[in-house]
Amino acid sequence: MVDYKKPLPAIHEETRPFWEKAKKHELWLQKCRDCGKFRFYPRSICPNCFSYNTEWSRVSGRGKIYSFTVSNRPPLQAFQKDVPYCLALVDLEEGVRMMTNIVECQWEDLKIDMPVEVVFEDVTPLISLPKFRPTPVI
Ligand SMILES: [Zn+2]
Repeated sequence: MVDYKKPLPAIHEETRPFWEKAKKHELWLQKCRDCGKFRFYPRSICPNCFSYNTEWSRVSGRGKIYSFTVSNRPPLQAFQKDVPYCLALVDLEEGVRMMTNIVECQWEDLKIDMPVEVVFEDVTPLISLPKFRPTPVI
């Protein structure tokens, strides 16, 4: 974990709550207090109504695959051991779209609109990355 070689997100004032909650394996998003819309990535202004009136709110961690691809070519040498891996866009129930990885699955089983849920990968003492896996069928 300490010799993690891949790029890491820079934590700053606007993103710190996101990463602090991710470390606890909770997914939190900014929500506009004026129009009620969630947003991702974290930023000071609402992209819907331009309000600065913001709160953080825990979200379900559930969503659906909007699009995905399985990459066999690493973008950087640091990802060489990861290929093939799945890069995806996931639409969360709360109305935001996240770029992420789909994990814990067989690539050939993936489908557009497949229900997924968040899981967290602890990569450093400060960073846990939100990724998604197909929602287990009960
Ligand atoms: Zn707003």
